[in-house]
Amino acid sequence: MRNIQSALVIGGGIAGPATALALHKAGIRATVYEAYSSTADGLGGMLMVAPNGLNALAILGLDQAVSGIGQPIKAMVMADACGKPIMQVPALPGLPDSQLMWRSDLYRVVRGAATAQGIHLEHAKRLVAVHETDTAITATFEDGTTATADVLIGADGIHSTVRKLIDSEAPEPRPDGLLGLGGESDLELPGRTDAIYFVQGKRAFLGYWLQPNGRPAWFANLPSKQYMSTAEARSIPTRDWLTRLGDTYAGDVPAEQLIAHAIPESVLALGSTDMLPEVPHWRRGRMVLVGDSAHAPNHSSGQGVSLAVESSVELARCLRDIDDPSVAFAAYEQLRRQRVTRIAAQAARANQRKAAGPIASALMTLMMRVAVKTFASPEKMFGWVQGYRIDWDTPIQGYAAQEPTRAASAVWEPATAK
Ligand SMILES: Cc1cc2nc3c(=O)[nH]c(=O)nc-3n(C[C@H](O)[C@H](O)[C@H](O)COP(=O)(O)OP(=O)(O)OC[C@H]3O[C@@H](n4cnc5c(N)ncnc54)[C@H](O)[C@@H]3O)c2cc1C
Repeated sequence: MRNIQSALVIGGGIAGPATALALHKAGIRATVYEAYSSTADGLGGMLMVAPNGLNALAILGLDQAVSGIGQPIKAMVMADACGKPIMQVPALPGLPDSQLMWRSDLYRVVRGAATAQGIHLEHAKRLVAVHETDTAITATFEDGTTATADVLIGADGIHSTVRKLIDSEAPEPRPDGLLGLGGESDLELPGRTDAIYFVQGKRAFLGYWLQPNGRPAWFANLPSKQYMSTAEARSIPTRDWLTRLGDTYAGDVPAEQLIAHAIPESVLALGSTDMLPEVPHWRRGRMVLVGDSAHAPNHSSGQGVSLAVESSVELARCLRDIDDPSVAFAAYEQLRRQRVTRIAAQAARANQRKAAGPIASALMTLMMRVAVKTFASPEKMFGWVQGYRIDWDTPIQGYAAQEPTRAASAVWEPATAK
């Protein structure tokens, strides 16, 4: 009989139910424990599921369902403050389109699939402590109840409790120097509904896309040295935010117009956006991290949810094939760490550009133009990120319970090669 038969999955966001589904496919029984008493239906904004995320979701049989709730994106267009394109990144050949969607729709699909497989999702179960023996691990929840299984998986997000239980010195997320705002505008704008536009303005960055009804939606990143909580950001009247946005984007095309025509009721202020420094310890004993608790690349990557699902699937594959949890977790970390760290570093550089002052920003736009003309093909820049596939059917072998060496797993393979 196999050694690892059951798992406690802490966190019922996206990575939690996705991990439980992957474990179910691997023949391991999982129960998901979520801190909040109610579901997260209707909560959250828009996020992007990239082709590599869809590849991972396909292993769970969810790629079609997820594509069905998204707006397909076939191109990314980077433009300067005058609206002049610097670079156009078409969809890479052989890969599915990226999909832009409401976080709550994705949550509904992943959660619904888990429930349909008979996976239990328990609410009002906030993990507060763990107790580990040689053969099992017990979770204690805030309501005093407990649950025991062979392993415990922390899918409890960027403010993870499991991360702290693994390592009391684990890093905390910290503000990345930007304030996030989003909204819709009542404006007719030329462009495609299957592209997303990134504008590096003179003073700040703005992204937008045309929704299927043609109405533009946008997200703004305002450089700010001061931390602001979501509650503080929401306490500021919308008209004040619109004035600040108007000043920031004055003279930028089409950012200035998008803000001038913003629909006030649609404007959402999120406060400071977070970045998670590299987490040194992903695992200890029978505990391991998955998703944002282990790696939360900042929003500039457009990879948060895609990497979370990749990790969910890879972790289940390791637990399927390796009987000793410490060896399975070591294998999982070796397979994942290098890739997620590299993507996080790339996103951090993009964020630095967004938070830079006008002179540095103009210089970086110039460097980008030169790079595009000389060496930066879309395949080179994004192929290794978006073309990534997990080979679910190949058994994992040859790993030992050592400290991870940084494995080279981030290999770009054209989709036609498989
Ligand atoms: C309500 C919500 C809205 C979001 N909206 C967006 C968005 O608009 N755009 C975007 O790009 N990303 C958004 N995210 C983040 C995005 O979902 C993640 O970056 C990504 O999907 C990876 O998911 P995750 O499951 O690792 O983390 P999360 O989606 O953050 O899920 C973690 C879950 O763990 C639960 N949890 C935390 N601590 C405990 C504990 N001690 N015990 C039990 N459960 C616990 C949380 O309540 C949460 O449900 C949102 C997250 C949440 C929770």
